[in-house]
Amino acid sequence: MGNYAIAIHGGAGTLMPGTVSPEKEKEFHDKLSESLQAGYNILSKGGSAVDAVEAAVRVMEDSPLFNSGKGSVFNSDGINEMDAAIMNGKNLKAGAIAEVHTVRNPISGARAVMEKTKHVLLASAGAEKFAKEMGLEIVDPSYFYDEERHQQWLATKDTDSPNSWAGDGIPEGTKKYGTVGCVALDNQGNVAAATSTGGINNKKFGRVGDAPLIGAGTYANNKTCAVSCTGEGEYFIRNVVAYDISALMEYKGLTLAQATAEAMKKVALLGGEGGLISIDNQGTICTPFNTSSMFRGWINTAGEKFTGVFR
Ligand code: ASP
Repeated sequence: MGNYAIAIHGGAGTLMPGTVSPEKEKEFHDKLSESLQAGYNILSKGGSAVDAVEAAVRVMEDSPLFNSGKGSVFNSDGINEMDAAIMNGKNLKAGAIAEVHTVRNPISGARAVMEKTKHVLLASAGAEKFAKEMGLEIVDPSYFYDEERHQQWLATKDTDSPNSWAGDGIPEGTKKYGTVGCVALDNQGNVAAATSTGGINNKKFGRVGDAPLIGAGTYANNKTCAVSCTGEGEYFIRNVVAYDISALMEYKGLTLAQATAEAMKKVALLGGEGGLISIDNQGTICTPFNTSSMFRGWINTAGEKFTGVFR
């Protein structure tokens, strides 16, 4: 049996230590841990990386703590508009959905696109119609509503500080992206990546971020690695970050640590902030971020578990 390992993120941000109550911080750690375990249980029984990343992401989508599925941020029209993508490094198959309002678990919608169509990305009403046809759980848009997120939107909708995080004694201007993602290596040597998000608070209606764009926020290739990004999506799209990391490894022979550092350097050079999680085909995990915080966790090839928020 080969090595297997998993890493997740619940979004980068500019939280500082001490600004979140210990109770709230524990809630984050517990949910990250539950998500990791959901994926790891699949891997430890010989399950596939694709199954593991979907299961881990679904746990975070169902939690209002993160900006994906339930608890997604609101766009400039005051509605939740979600994006998700999944990629299988074994055959480079990928699926994504964008701008959906009724699919309870967008990551499962993305997986259905990957496995049940010859397409990669379905958007908006078409994506919702397809998810329904596939028998996925469809909910009323009010299901995604979260009071704290709504207050965050109301407080920032007329400002140019779109991603500020309000509430819970958090200092003004604190940013929290909150997208979720997972990367995994299974014992057959296959890697997979999944990302799911409500996007950026107060984003322009119709805006699509990096998460559902294969190569930008999500990418997996057995030859190299799997990557899921979080942060200001526009910078990750412009730098084609997830694919860039894979390409640096494939064509230049860089290690995962070198490739992720190089890619994050390019994001910072353009003025972007955020982070990513990545795993190579040996199970090495790298989780760089240039913000002060990134909700993240991993269980490595030795079975050691970690969850963290700050540097
Ligand atoms: N990257 C996401 C987006 O731009 C936001 C996030 O990471 O929370 O849509």
